[in-house]
Amino acid sequence: MLLKNKTALITGAATGIGEGIARLFAEHGASLVLLDRNSAALHSASTSISSPGRPALPIVLDVRDRRAIDSAVDHAHAEIGEIDILINNAGIYPRQSFLEMSEEQWDEMQSINLKSMFHTTQAILPEMIGRGKGKIVNISSVTFHLGLENLTHYVTSKGGVIGLTRSLAREMGPHNIHINCITPGAIQVEAERAVVSEDQIRLWMDQQSLKRRMIPLDIARACLFLASELSDGLTGQTLNVDGGWIMH
Ligand code: NDP
Repeated sequence: MLLKNKTALITGAATGIGEGIARLFAEHGASLVLLDRNSAALHSASTSISSPGRPALPIVLDVRDRRAIDSAVDHAHAEIGEIDILINNAGIYPRQSFLEMSEEQWDEMQSINLKSMFHTTQAILPEMIGRGKGKIVNISSVTFHLGLENLTHYVTSKGGVIGLTRSLAREMGPHNIHINCITPGAIQVEAERAVVSEDQIRLWMDQQSLKRRMIPLDIARACLFLASELSDGLTGQTLNVDGGWIMH
């Protein structure tokens, strides 16, 4: 029970990695505030995760919408209480060649994958500063270390996540707020089917040291470590969880 009496707000919690994090955090005693734009999947995740005395409050919103985030935080305070942990996970990864990329596609990527973290983090930091503690985990991607074709907009956004993590860790260190980042490798989720082929996945797995698919639970466990007191003293870091694909 590493998160007993803690409350965590998780974005993109309806499916994939975010749902995996929510499930593991609940097993470790956390109350949850789950944000996502996919209403049906979010409510289904919330129903299966929540238990008596340990709520998983679903709030449907778009993480680009600052007003919606501010009122979600207010709603969470009223329903559950103060937020101890923020997991910035919501993200998209459509492929597009750079020369054919529209300005709208570029902006959408930066806005969902990076600017949303500006909104959620600004909305929650004041209460963490007030209490003199807090844990924030931002989800980046191994692709920042690799560079990948047809993903310049994505990799740029994920590099921004690392920059945000490092600078904010310095700025918030005096308030005892820990801010770290995870770069997941190729994680087995439903959403990958829309963007990668079986051949592509096999190719990536060949490059991993561990010869199995990485799953959301692998990222959730690293996230649990970074959200709990086990990682006290560790801030501004990027933890690469990719089955030993890249080493740096
Ligand atoms: P999923 O698509 O399974 O989950 C992401 C969730 O976030 C979805 O429910 C999605 O809804 C939601 N979401 C997306 N945009 C918004 C928005 N604007 N407002 C609210 N909710 C939104 O993706 P993954 O679990 O695979 O990815 C989670 C994170 O991990 C992302 O940041 C991704 O970049 C990162 N990552 C994933 C890797 C992988 O291999 N899976 C590898 C490295 C990093 P909707 O379905 O409607 O888009």
